Amino acid sequence: MFRPLEWFLGKFSTDMGIDLGTANTLVCVKDRGIVLNEPSVVAVRKGTNEVLLEGRAVGLAAKEMLGKTPGNIVAIRPLKNGVIADFEVTEKMLRYFITKVHDGRQWATPQVVISIPSGITAVERRAVINSAERAGARRVFLIEEPMAAGIGVGLPVTSARGSMIVDIGGGTTEVAVLSLAGMVASTSIRIAGDEMDEAVMGHCRKYHNLQIGEQTAEKIKMAIGSAAPLEQELAVEVKGRDTLTGMPRKIQLNSEEVREALLEPVRQIIGAIRQTLEASPPEIAADLVDQGITLAGGGSLLRGIDRAIGEETVLPVKVADDPLTAVARGTLRFLEDIEVFSKVLQSGEDH
Ligand code: ADP
Ligand code: MG
Repeated sequence: MFRPLEWFLGKFSTDMGIDLGTANTLVCVKDRGIVLNEPSVVAVRKGTNEVLLEGRAVGLAAKEMLGKTPGNIVAIRPLKNGVIADFEVTEKMLRYFITKVHDGRQWATPQVVISIPSGITAVERRAVINSAERAGARRVFLIEEPMAAGIGVGLPVTSARGSMIVDIGGGTTEVAVLSLAGMVASTSIRIAGDEMDEAVMGHCRKYHNLQIGEQTAEKIKMAIGSAAPLEQELAVEVKGRDTLTGMPRKIQLNSEEVREALLEPVRQIIGAIRQTLEASPPEIAADLVDQGITLAGGGSLLRGIDRAIGEETVLPVKVADDPLTAVARGTLRFLEDIEVFSKVLQSGEDH
């Protein structure tokens, strides 16, 4: 139906696609691409939901505070486990990002497509929609993250041909077989990048008596982490606190031992992929033999994870181009074809 008022407002608005990730939130705008890419972190005064810096301690500003906050300040990742731990803080974060992008165009309210982790409950979905509406959205569409990722990397999600997407994020890994604009089979586990960081922290504590922070662990993972042997093994110097003496100390860490530490989370991710393959109907499974598995999300940048998954599943595996932005690009595609996608996807407009 042609709605003249909405059409008119739309001319002045900033329609946006949002990847509300457990680790990073990306916002894109039609014709402009990705305009915001910040950590999903908010800094609040302890025991309250009061966002610091007059409501601006969100994203990059807040991540810098993580792990270094004095006693009365806490940095929260409100979506850390793929569920909304704190509605109010999530709303403030979403609102801050939308307002930041929407800057100065308050008279027209935008259409917003938001990608959410697939494990999210109906109550949480409602909360996301309400938050976006309170932040000024005119129409809100929710799309499940694996579907957005599939669209973003250009998989034939609306065709009858089955394809598999594995999105390894910070808090969750989402595995889905997509066909005819639906998820034929899917699994969501709370094992992803954060769990890898924790494995690295655990390794340093157990084998080197060295206590390190989450951010240091993440840096080690990115610098030398792997899921399969490397042509050239790597090493890095790590600084932390000795667990016995309590004194600062540095050690040398090599990629073999980090790989060993990452074995368990990687094994669990492969387990989720197996489980999803087993739950797929035979006709669809047959498609996957040719189509293979596409990896997205930051966790897919772990060296050799494609090889490790390929060896276990005996399917072709490829890492999507620019895997960190796949979901955001999917929401953008959705925006560009909103009339089509909102009709074919069950997860279209929610009200
Ligand atoms: P989410 O969608 O849950 O917000 P992202 O897709 O943004 O998550 O991915 C974030 C995760 O990817 C973090 O755990 C981060 O440490 C990890 N990551 C990013 N780059 C790399 C890399 N080069 N190697 C390994 N892990 C990485
Ligand atoms: Mg994501």
